[in-house]
Amino acid sequence: MSVSQLARSIKASATLKLNETAAKLREKGEPVIHLGGGEPKSKAPLDAVLNCATQLNTGEVRYAPADGLPALKKSILRYTEENYGRLMAPANVIVSSGAKQSIMNILYAILEPKDEVVFPAPYWVSYPEMVKLAGGVAVPVVPEDGSFQPSVPDIADKVGSYTKAVILNSPNNPSGVMYPAEFIAEMVAFCEKKNLWLIMDDLYNRLVFDGQKAPNPYEFAKETGEASRLVVVQGVSKMYAMTGFRIGWAVGNRELVEAMTNIQGHQTSGPVTVSQWAAVGAMSGVQTSIESLRLTLENQRNVMLDRLQTIPGVHVTKPNGTFYCFPDFSAYMKDSQKLAELLLDRVRVVTVPGKEFGMDGHLRLSYCGTIKEIMDGLERIKWALDPQAPNELFLGDRKLVRDWA
Ligand code: PMP
Repeated sequence: MSVSQLARSIKASATLKLNETAAKLREKGEPVIHLGGGEPKSKAPLDAVLNCATQLNTGEVRYAPADGLPALKKSILRYTEENYGRLMAPANVIVSSGAKQSIMNILYAILEPKDEVVFPAPYWVSYPEMVKLAGGVAVPVVPEDGSFQPSVPDIADKVGSYTKAVILNSPNNPSGVMYPAEFIAEMVAFCEKKNLWLIMDDLYNRLVFDGQKAPNPYEFAKETGEASRLVVVQGVSKMYAMTGFRIGWAVGNRELVEAMTNIQGHQTSGPVTVSQWAAVGAMSGVQTSIESLRLTLENQRNVMLDRLQTIPGVHVTKPNGTFYCFPDFSAYMKDSQKLAELLLDRVRVVTVPGKEFGMDGHLRLSYCGTIKEIMDGLERIKWALDPQAPNELFLGDRKLVRDWA
Protein backbone atom coordinates (compact mmCIF):
# COMPACT_ATOMS: atom_id res chain seq x y z
CA MET A 1 0.00 0.00 0.00
CA SER A 2 1.27 3.41 -0.87
CA VAL A 3 -1.30 5.71 0.66
CA SER A 4 0.01 8.39 3.01
CA GLN A 5 0.50 8.15 6.73
CA LEU A 6 -2.23 10.76 7.14
CA ALA A 7 -4.66 8.72 5.03
CA ARG A 8 -3.86 5.63 7.06
CA SER A 9 -4.61 7.50 10.28
CA ILE A 10 -8.15 8.43 9.21
CA LYS A 11 -10.97 6.06 10.18
CA ALA A 12 -13.98 5.51 7.95
CA SER A 13 -17.03 7.41 9.17
CA ALA A 14 -18.71 4.86 11.47
CA THR A 15 -22.15 6.21 10.75
CA LEU A 16 -21.73 6.18 6.96
CA LYS A 17 -20.32 2.64 7.15
CA LEU A 18 -23.33 1.48 9.15
CA ASN A 19 -25.67 2.95 6.54
CA GLU A 20 -23.89 0.87 3.91
CA THR A 21 -24.08 -2.32 5.97
CA ALA A 22 -27.79 -1.78 6.64
CA ALA A 23 -28.47 -1.11 2.94
CA LYS A 24 -26.61 -4.28 1.90
CA LEU A 25 -28.54 -6.41 4.39
CA ARG A 26 -31.83 -4.88 3.26
CA GLU A 27 -30.97 -5.63 -0.35
CA LYS A 28 -30.61 -9.28 0.64
CA GLY A 29 -34.13 -9.12 2.05
CA GLU A 30 -33.06 -9.04 5.72
CA PRO A 31 -35.61 -7.32 8.03
CA VAL A 32 -33.22 -4.61 9.22
CA ILE A 33 -34.34 -1.86 11.60
CA HIS A 34 -32.07 1.17 11.40
CA LEU A 35 -31.76 2.96 14.72
CA GLY A 36 -28.38 4.33 13.71
CA GLY A 37 -29.56 6.95 11.22
CA GLY A 38 -28.65 10.60 11.22
CA GLU A 39 -31.34 12.18 9.10
CA PRO A 40 -35.02 13.05 9.49
CA LYS A 41 -37.42 11.09 7.33
CA SER A 42 -39.67 14.03 6.37
CA LYS A 43 -39.55 15.49 2.87
CA ALA A 44 -37.68 18.65 1.93
CA PRO A 45 -39.94 21.75 2.08
CA LEU A 46 -41.95 22.28 -1.11
CA ASP A 47 -40.46 25.76 -1.51
CA ALA A 48 -37.00 24.18 -1.59
CA VAL A 49 -37.98 21.69 -4.28
CA LEU A 50 -39.76 24.29 -6.41
CA ASN A 51 -36.96 26.83 -6.27
CA CYS A 52 -34.42 24.16 -7.12
CA ALA A 53 -36.56 22.74 -9.96
CA THR A 54 -37.14 26.19 -11.48
CA GLN A 55 -33.41 26.75 -11.62
CA LEU A 56 -32.80 23.29 -13.02
CA ASN A 57 -35.44 23.76 -15.72
CA THR A 58 -33.53 26.66 -17.21
CA GLY A 59 -30.77 24.19 -18.05
CA GLU A 60 -28.27 26.84 -17.01
CA VAL A 61 -26.44 25.62 -13.99
CA ARG A 62 -23.15 27.47 -13.64
CA TYR A 63 -20.38 27.98 -11.14
CA ALA A 64 -21.36 30.19 -8.23
CA PRO A 65 -18.96 32.29 -6.13
CA ALA A 66 -16.77 30.07 -3.90
CA ASP A 67 -18.36 31.50 -0.74
CA GLY A 68 -21.92 30.95 -1.93
CA LEU A 69 -24.67 32.54 -4.05
CA PRO A 70 -25.40 36.13 -2.96
CA ALA A 71 -29.11 35.22 -2.67
CA LEU A 72 -28.32 32.42 -0.20
CA LYS A 73 -25.92 34.57 1.79
CA LYS A 74 -28.73 37.12 2.06
CA SER A 75 -31.08 34.42 3.40
CA ILE A 76 -28.42 33.37 5.91
CA LEU A 77 -27.94 36.96 7.07
CA ARG A 78 -31.68 37.27 7.59
CA TYR A 79 -31.68 33.91 9.45
CA THR A 80 -28.82 35.09 11.67
CA GLU A 81 -30.62 38.32 12.46
CA GLU A 82 -33.93 36.58 13.21
CA ASN A 83 -32.56 33.64 15.19
CA TYR A 84 -29.45 35.09 16.82
CA GLY A 85 -30.34 38.79 16.89
CA ARG A 86 -27.08 39.50 15.09
CA LEU A 87 -26.64 41.80 12.10
CA MET A 88 -23.77 40.53 9.99
CA ALA A 89 -22.37 41.46 6.58
CA PRO A 90 -22.06 39.18 3.52
CA ALA A 91 -18.30 39.05 4.15
CA ASN A 92 -19.01 37.29 7.47
CA VAL A 93 -20.77 34.36 5.78
CA ILE A 94 -19.50 31.36 3.84
CA VAL A 95 -21.76 28.69 2.36
CA SER A 96 -20.25 25.20 2.16
CA SER A 97 -21.14 21.71 0.96
CA GLY A 98 -22.72 20.84 4.28
CA ALA A 99 -21.83 22.06 7.77
CA LYS A 100 -19.19 19.34 7.60
CA GLN A 101 -17.19 21.24 4.99
CA SER A 102 -17.60 24.49 6.92
CA ILE A 103 -16.13 22.92 10.05
CA MET A 104 -13.33 21.29 8.07
CA ASN A 105 -12.42 24.61 6.46
CA ILE A 106 -12.52 26.52 9.75
CA LEU A 107 -9.94 24.03 11.03
CA TYR A 108 -7.79 24.33 7.89
CA ALA A 109 -7.97 28.10 8.23
CA ILE A 110 -6.96 28.37 11.90
CA LEU A 111 -4.67 25.46 12.79
CA GLU A 112 -0.89 25.39 12.71
CA PRO A 113 0.64 21.89 12.79
CA LYS A 114 0.10 20.26 16.20
CA ASP A 115 -2.28 22.96 17.44
CA GLU A 116 -4.88 21.48 19.75
CA VAL A 117 -8.65 21.56 19.49
CA VAL A 118 -10.62 20.79 22.63
CA PHE A 119 -14.18 19.43 22.65
CA PRO A 120 -16.34 17.65 25.23
CA ALA A 121 -17.18 13.95 25.01
CA PRO A 122 -19.42 12.48 23.89
CA TYR A 123 -18.60 14.23 20.62
CA TRP A 124 -19.66 13.98 17.00
CA VAL A 125 -17.61 11.19 15.33
CA SER A 126 -16.06 13.47 12.73
CA TYR A 127 -14.37 16.02 15.03
CA PRO A 128 -11.25 13.95 15.86
CA GLU A 129 -10.70 12.95 12.24
CA MET A 130 -11.28 16.47 10.93
CA VAL A 131 -8.80 17.95 13.40
CA LYS A 132 -6.26 15.30 12.36
CA LEU A 133 -6.85 16.05 8.66
CA ALA A 134 -6.12 19.72 9.31
CA GLY A 135 -2.83 18.79 10.99
CA GLY A 136 -4.02 19.41 14.53
CA VAL A 137 -4.39 17.32 17.64
CA ALA A 138 -7.84 16.47 18.98
CA VAL A 139 -8.26 16.79 22.75
CA PRO A 140 -11.56 15.30 23.94
CA VAL A 141 -12.72 16.15 27.45
CA VAL A 142 -14.62 13.40 29.24
CA PRO A 143 -16.81 14.89 32.01
CA GLU A 144 -15.42 13.84 35.41
CA ASP A 145 -18.85 12.95 36.74
CA GLY A 146 -19.70 10.61 33.84
CA SER A 147 -22.57 12.89 32.78
CA PHE A 148 -23.01 14.40 29.33
CA GLN A 149 -22.70 17.90 30.71
CA PRO A 150 -19.16 19.27 30.38
CA SER A 151 -17.89 21.66 33.04
CA VAL A 152 -15.80 24.74 32.41
CA PRO A 153 -13.05 23.63 34.87
CA ASP A 154 -12.82 20.21 33.11
CA ILE A 155 -12.37 22.00 29.79
CA ALA A 156 -10.00 24.63 31.23
CA ASP A 157 -7.87 21.77 32.55
CA LYS A 158 -7.20 20.56 28.99
CA VAL A 159 -6.47 24.00 27.58
CA GLY A 160 -2.78 24.75 27.23
CA SER A 161 -0.39 26.82 25.17
CA TYR A 162 -1.09 24.75 22.02
CA THR A 163 -4.87 25.08 22.25
CA LYS A 164 -6.30 27.03 19.35
CA ALA A 165 -10.01 26.28 19.49
CA VAL A 166 -12.90 24.77 21.38
CA ILE A 167 -15.82 23.07 19.60
CA LEU A 168 -19.21 22.91 21.30
CA ASN A 169 -22.13 21.04 19.81
CA SER A 170 -25.41 21.66 21.61
CA PRO A 171 -27.93 20.08 21.48
CA ASN A 172 -25.43 17.35 21.17
CA ASN A 173 -24.92 14.49 18.75
CA PRO A 174 -24.95 11.76 20.20
CA SER A 175 -26.43 12.53 23.65
CA GLY A 176 -29.26 14.89 22.66
CA VAL A 177 -28.31 16.97 25.70
CA MET A 178 -28.46 20.75 25.42
CA TYR A 179 -25.87 22.68 27.41
CA PRO A 180 -27.39 25.29 29.74
CA ALA A 181 -27.13 29.03 29.06
CA GLU A 182 -24.78 29.55 32.05
CA PHE A 183 -22.31 27.04 30.59
CA ILE A 184 -22.41 28.65 27.14
CA ALA A 185 -21.99 32.09 28.76
CA GLU A 186 -18.97 30.91 30.75
CA MET A 187 -17.42 29.24 27.72
CA VAL A 188 -17.84 32.38 25.58
CA ALA A 189 -16.15 34.41 28.33
CA PHE A 190 -13.44 31.77 28.81
CA CYS A 191 -12.58 31.63 25.10
CA GLU A 192 -12.53 35.44 24.86
CA LYS A 193 -10.19 35.63 27.85
CA LYS A 194 -7.86 32.95 26.46
CA ASN A 195 -8.08 34.26 22.90
CA LEU A 196 -9.39 30.92 21.60
CA TRP A 197 -11.68 30.27 18.66
CA LEU A 198 -15.06 29.06 19.82
CA ILE A 199 -16.75 26.96 17.14
CA MET A 200 -20.44 26.57 17.94
CA ASP A 201 -21.81 23.64 15.97
CA ASP A 202 -25.46 24.67 16.14
CA LEU A 203 -26.78 22.19 13.62
CA TYR A 204 -29.55 20.91 15.89
CA ASN A 205 -30.46 24.12 17.69
CA ARG A 206 -33.94 24.39 16.12
CA LEU A 207 -34.80 20.83 17.09
CA VAL A 208 -35.25 21.41 20.83
CA PHE A 209 -37.99 19.94 23.03
CA ASP A 210 -40.11 20.64 26.13
CA GLY A 211 -40.64 24.32 25.36
CA GLN A 212 -36.94 25.09 25.75
CA LYS A 213 -34.84 27.28 23.48
CA ALA A 214 -31.18 26.87 22.62
CA PRO A 215 -28.99 29.54 24.26
CA ASN A 216 -27.67 32.18 21.88
CA PRO A 217 -23.86 32.44 22.21
CA TYR A 218 -23.79 35.98 20.75
CA GLU A 219 -25.79 37.18 23.76
CA PHE A 220 -22.80 36.50 25.98
CA ALA A 221 -20.06 37.84 23.72
CA LYS A 222 -18.24 40.99 24.81
CA GLU A 223 -16.22 41.12 21.62
CA THR A 224 -18.73 41.91 18.91
CA GLY A 225 -16.57 43.24 16.10
CA GLU A 226 -14.13 41.75 13.62
CA ALA A 227 -11.81 40.66 16.45
CA SER A 228 -14.44 38.13 17.58
CA ARG A 229 -13.34 34.51 17.42
CA LEU A 230 -16.84 33.14 17.81
CA VAL A 231 -17.89 31.11 14.77
CA VAL A 232 -21.40 29.74 14.40
CA VAL A 233 -22.00 26.76 12.11
CA GLN A 234 -25.44 25.91 10.78
CA GLY A 235 -27.09 24.21 7.82
CA VAL A 236 -30.26 23.00 6.17
CA SER A 237 -29.55 19.29 6.67
CA LYS A 238 -31.35 18.66 9.93
CA MET A 239 -33.84 21.48 10.46
CA TYR A 240 -35.29 21.26 6.94
CA ALA A 241 -34.58 17.52 6.47
CA MET A 242 -32.36 18.40 3.49
CA THR A 243 -29.32 16.20 4.19
CA GLY A 244 -28.78 15.21 0.56
CA PHE A 245 -28.63 18.80 -0.69
CA ARG A 246 -25.36 19.27 1.21
CA ILE A 247 -25.69 22.89 2.20
CA GLY A 248 -24.29 24.34 5.43
CA TRP A 249 -22.61 27.57 6.43
CA ALA A 250 -20.39 29.37 8.90
CA VAL A 251 -20.69 32.90 10.27
CA GLY A 252 -17.48 34.40 11.59
CA ASN A 253 -15.07 37.28 11.27
CA ARG A 254 -14.09 38.50 7.80
CA GLU A 255 -10.48 37.37 7.98
CA LEU A 256 -11.54 33.81 8.81
CA VAL A 257 -14.27 33.75 6.15
CA GLU A 258 -11.86 35.06 3.53
CA ALA A 259 -9.29 32.37 4.40
CA MET A 260 -12.00 29.69 4.31
CA THR A 261 -13.19 30.99 0.94
CA ASN A 262 -9.69 30.73 -0.51
CA ILE A 263 -9.42 27.15 0.73
CA GLN A 264 -12.91 26.20 -0.45
CA GLY A 265 -12.25 27.75 -3.87
CA HIS A 266 -9.51 25.20 -4.44
CA GLN A 267 -11.49 22.29 -3.01
CA THR A 268 -14.93 22.44 -4.57
CA SER A 269 -15.21 25.91 -6.16
CA GLY A 270 -18.18 26.32 -3.82
CA PRO A 271 -21.29 24.25 -3.19
CA VAL A 272 -23.58 22.87 -5.92
CA THR A 273 -25.60 25.75 -7.38
CA VAL A 274 -28.98 23.96 -7.59
CA SER A 275 -28.66 22.92 -3.95
CA GLN A 276 -28.06 26.52 -3.02
CA TRP A 277 -31.26 27.51 -4.81
CA ALA A 278 -33.07 24.80 -2.85
CA ALA A 279 -31.69 26.26 0.39
CA VAL A 280 -32.84 29.76 -0.63
CA GLY A 281 -36.32 28.29 -1.27
CA ALA A 282 -36.39 26.56 2.12
CA MET A 283 -35.19 29.60 4.02
CA SER A 284 -37.45 32.12 2.36
CA GLY A 285 -40.55 29.93 2.05
CA VAL A 286 -43.18 28.76 4.56
CA GLN A 287 -41.40 27.86 7.81
CA THR A 288 -43.95 25.40 9.25
CA SER A 289 -41.92 22.31 8.39
CA ILE A 290 -39.35 22.96 11.14
CA GLU A 291 -42.00 23.06 13.84
CA SER A 292 -43.78 20.00 12.54
CA LEU A 293 -40.49 18.06 12.41
CA ARG A 294 -39.64 19.25 15.91
CA LEU A 295 -43.01 18.07 17.27
CA THR A 296 -42.72 14.71 15.52
CA LEU A 297 -39.25 14.19 16.96
CA GLU A 298 -40.36 15.17 20.46
CA ASN A 299 -43.12 12.59 20.31
CA GLN A 300 -40.71 9.95 18.98
CA ARG A 301 -38.22 10.78 21.72
CA ASN A 302 -40.95 10.14 24.30
CA VAL A 303 -41.77 6.76 22.77
CA MET A 304 -38.11 5.77 22.71
CA LEU A 305 -37.53 6.82 26.34
CA ASP A 306 -40.65 4.95 27.37
CA ARG A 307 -39.47 1.76 25.70
CA LEU A 308 -35.89 2.07 26.95
CA GLN A 309 -37.16 2.27 30.48
CA THR A 310 -38.58 -1.23 30.09
CA ILE A 311 -35.10 -2.71 29.62
CA PRO A 312 -33.70 -3.44 33.07
CA GLY A 313 -30.26 -1.97 33.82
CA VAL A 314 -30.25 0.49 30.92
CA HIS A 315 -29.77 4.12 31.96
CA VAL A 316 -30.64 6.99 29.69
CA THR A 317 -30.32 10.76 30.07
CA LYS A 318 -33.38 12.51 28.65
CA PRO A 319 -32.43 14.31 25.44
CA ASN A 320 -33.48 17.98 25.19
CA GLY A 321 -33.15 18.02 21.42
CA THR A 322 -31.76 16.39 18.21
CA PHE A 323 -33.05 12.94 17.25
CA TYR A 324 -30.58 10.87 19.23
CA CYS A 325 -30.25 9.45 22.67
CA PHE A 326 -27.23 7.79 24.19
CA PRO A 327 -28.24 5.12 26.70
CA ASP A 328 -25.74 3.32 28.88
CA PHE A 329 -25.80 -0.42 28.14
CA SER A 330 -22.70 -1.26 30.17
CA ALA A 331 -24.76 -3.43 32.54
CA TYR A 332 -25.00 -5.84 29.57
CA MET A 333 -21.71 -5.27 27.78
CA LYS A 334 -18.93 -2.76 28.29
CA ASP A 335 -17.57 -3.02 24.74
CA SER A 336 -20.05 -1.00 22.68
CA GLN A 337 -18.59 -2.17 19.37
CA LYS A 338 -19.24 -5.79 20.28
CA LEU A 339 -22.71 -4.95 21.54
CA ALA A 340 -23.63 -3.13 18.32
CA GLU A 341 -22.31 -6.09 16.28
CA LEU A 342 -24.28 -8.52 18.41
CA LEU A 343 -27.51 -6.56 17.93
CA LEU A 344 -27.02 -6.37 14.18
CA ASP A 345 -26.07 -10.00 13.93
CA ARG A 346 -28.82 -11.48 16.12
CA VAL A 347 -31.78 -9.19 15.76
CA ARG A 348 -30.86 -7.05 12.75
CA VAL A 349 -31.01 -3.73 14.60
CA VAL A 350 -28.49 -1.08 13.58
CA THR A 351 -27.10 1.07 16.41
CA VAL A 352 -23.91 3.11 16.65
CA PRO A 353 -21.30 2.10 19.25
CA GLY A 354 -20.61 4.75 21.90
CA LYS A 355 -16.87 4.18 21.44
CA GLU A 356 -17.09 6.18 18.20
CA PHE A 357 -18.29 9.18 20.20
CA GLY A 358 -15.65 8.84 22.91
CA MET A 359 -17.77 6.96 25.46
CA ASP A 360 -17.74 3.19 25.51
CA GLY A 361 -20.57 1.24 27.15
CA HIS A 362 -23.18 3.40 25.41
CA LEU A 363 -25.05 3.07 22.12
CA ARG A 364 -26.37 5.93 20.05
CA LEU A 365 -29.99 5.27 19.14
CA SER A 366 -31.83 7.50 16.69
CA TYR A 367 -35.52 8.27 16.88
CA CYS A 368 -35.77 9.89 13.47
CA GLY A 369 -37.46 6.81 11.92
CA THR A 370 -41.08 5.77 12.38
CA ILE A 371 -42.79 4.98 15.70
CA LYS A 372 -43.09 1.37 14.52
CA GLU A 373 -39.35 1.15 13.88
CA ILE A 374 -38.62 2.57 17.33
CA MET A 375 -41.03 0.18 19.07
CA ASP A 376 -40.00 -2.92 17.10
CA GLY A 377 -36.31 -2.04 17.31
CA LEU A 378 -36.40 -1.69 21.07
CA GLU A 379 -38.45 -4.82 21.44
CA ARG A 380 -35.77 -6.71 19.53
CA ILE A 381 -32.96 -5.14 21.60
CA LYS A 382 -34.77 -6.04 24.80
CA TRP A 383 -35.31 -9.57 23.60
CA ALA A 384 -31.66 -9.98 22.65
CA LEU A 385 -30.40 -8.73 26.01
CA ASP A 386 -32.93 -9.69 28.63
CA PRO A 387 -32.47 -13.28 29.86
CA GLN A 388 -36.06 -13.19 31.19
CA ALA A 389 -37.49 -12.57 27.71
CA PRO A 390 -39.41 -15.38 25.94
CA ASN A 391 -37.31 -17.83 23.98
CA GLU A 392 -38.68 -16.91 20.58
CA LEU A 393 -39.14 -13.73 18.57
CA PHE A 394 -40.56 -13.18 15.10
CA LEU A 395 -38.73 -10.88 12.70
CA GLY A 396 -41.33 -10.51 9.97
CA ASP A 397 -42.19 -14.14 9.22
CA ARG A 398 -38.80 -15.38 10.40
CA LYS A 399 -38.74 -17.08 13.80
CA LEU A 400 -35.69 -16.41 15.95
CA VAL A 401 -34.84 -18.79 18.74
CA ARG A 402 -32.52 -17.68 21.53
CA ASP A 403 -29.43 -19.90 21.36
CA TRP A 404 -27.32 -17.80 23.72
CA ALA A 405 -27.43 -17.27 27.46
N1 PMP B 1 -22.27 18.57 13.05
C1 PMP B 1 -22.97 17.61 13.66
C2 PMP B 1 -22.99 17.57 15.14
C3 PMP B 1 -23.64 16.64 12.91
O1 PMP B 1 -24.32 15.67 13.55
C4 PMP B 1 -23.57 16.68 11.50
C5 PMP B 1 -24.25 15.65 10.63
N2 PMP B 1 -24.43 14.43 11.12
C6 PMP B 1 -22.84 17.71 10.90
C7 PMP B 1 -22.21 18.64 11.70
C8 PMP B 1 -22.72 17.85 9.40
O2 PMP B 1 -23.92 18.09 8.80
P1 PMP B 1 -24.05 18.45 7.23
O3 PMP B 1 -22.69 18.34 6.65
O4 PMP B 1 -25.02 17.48 6.68
O5 PMP B 1 -24.56 19.86 7.18
